[in-house]
Amino acid sequence: MSISQAIEKVEARYAHQPEFIQAVKEVALTIAPLYDAHPEYETLKVFERLVEPDRVICFRINWENDKGEIEVNRGWRVQFCNALGPYKGGLRFHPTVNQSVLKFLGFEQIFKNALTGLPIGGGKGGSDFDPKGKSETEIRRFCYAFMRELHHYVNKDIDVPAGDIGVGSREVSYMYAMYKNLTRESTGVITGKGVGFGGSLMRTEATGYGAVYFLESMLAAQNEDIKGKKVLVSGAGNVSLHAAEKVCMLDGIVLTVSDSKGTLYDEKGLNQEKIDWLKKQKEQSKPLAEYVDVFGGEWLAGKKPWQFKADIIIPSATQNEVDEEDAKQLVENGIRYVVEGANMPLTADAIDYIRLHHVHYAPGKAANAGGVAVSALEMSQNSVRQYKTHEQIDSRLKIIMKNIHDSAAEASEEYCQTKDGYIDYMSGANMVGFKRVADALVAYGILN
Ligand code: GLU
Repeated sequence: MSISQAIEKVEARYAHQPEFIQAVKEVALTIAPLYDAHPEYETLKVFERLVEPDRVICFRINWENDKGEIEVNRGWRVQFCNALGPYKGGLRFHPTVNQSVLKFLGFEQIFKNALTGLPIGGGKGGSDFDPKGKSETEIRRFCYAFMRELHHYVNKDIDVPAGDIGVGSREVSYMYAMYKNLTRESTGVITGKGVGFGGSLMRTEATGYGAVYFLESMLAAQNEDIKGKKVLVSGAGNVSLHAAEKVCMLDGIVLTVSDSKGTLYDEKGLNQEKIDWLKKQKEQSKPLAEYVDVFGGEWLAGKKPWQFKADIIIPSATQNEVDEEDAKQLVENGIRYVVEGANMPLTADAIDYIRLHHVHYAPGKAANAGGVAVSALEMSQNSVRQYKTHEQIDSRLKIIMKNIHDSAAEASEEYCQTKDGYIDYMSGANMVGFKRVADALVAYGILN
């Protein structure tokens, strides 16, 4: 079965899963030259096998809210592919979570994790539980109830979850506590744990910092650097604020952050004091808009950050937050680099548009791989029951992000006919990630 036939099959079978189809197509449409050069992939139906998760586990979560009422949510764990190591990927708690979203995230995670060069497979999970407006005790009860179900299916050598949207170190700690309680094991079954009880230094910063390390390599490839460049960041969560922090540390100028209610624009640029304030504000679930009263700037209710002139954007909020209209505006505003901090923040049409206009584009599975890479370092620290230092983790993260950049750029050079120094990171990253997984599947024969 050719790749195009495999896509048709996915489209027919999963017509009701648009995000998943979008993620599959993005990979499928870029790996053709590699696939053609390896007839064994076709013989062993590697692509057709990879688009079908090993299994999707679906469960019900009953929990009790503060009024003493029973609430019922749905939970999933998509164990997508363990060719390279235990299933690895975050848990997302958000009302938009469904099987399509988790399958898209799990599918992306396979190749992202392969790109890190570390021994981790791909998986994802979560729940349609909405943490917004919930009390501390409700969050705790939900996390306990979620892990009471999930613990049957995860283990340090089988499947290692972590955080994602709606799941930070607080939620990870609650879930880890329940896992320990039920299994009587202190292992690295979940990453993003607090530093001091198994967590790795720098896991919190890793995704945002890693995206900016990737950006530095992209700029260096064009003989540029970040100093003085204007950057638009979307989102105000862990990835966004740490990406913004690293840009500031490298003397770039961050003009925006945003949330579901609007965009904060500060023409003077953020600095460490402002970022610390933003972190605190978000931690306490307080409005971003209050920033204006403290530091000035402008609050644009209901608006995305893409209307401003800048050099670089780091979309770090959520999937499909940048559509074709936004992409047109970005090109008009002179944006030359797009670095995805979130997973699949650009729609397929937006990606086509910016690539057509030669905007340098780093897909999430390459640019935001720093988070899961440090998660894998947390797993190895847990296995040997020792901690690494901040410097050790940071230097590994830098090397991993540079390797991802360089290997994607090399694949672009080998397989893509681009002009004027343009690097096709999307095709390059897809091919490198795909090849690592495909070669393992070929080596295994038909098992896996
Ligand atoms: N949720 C993050 C991601 O999208 C991190 C996953 C992990 O650390 O396992 O890559």
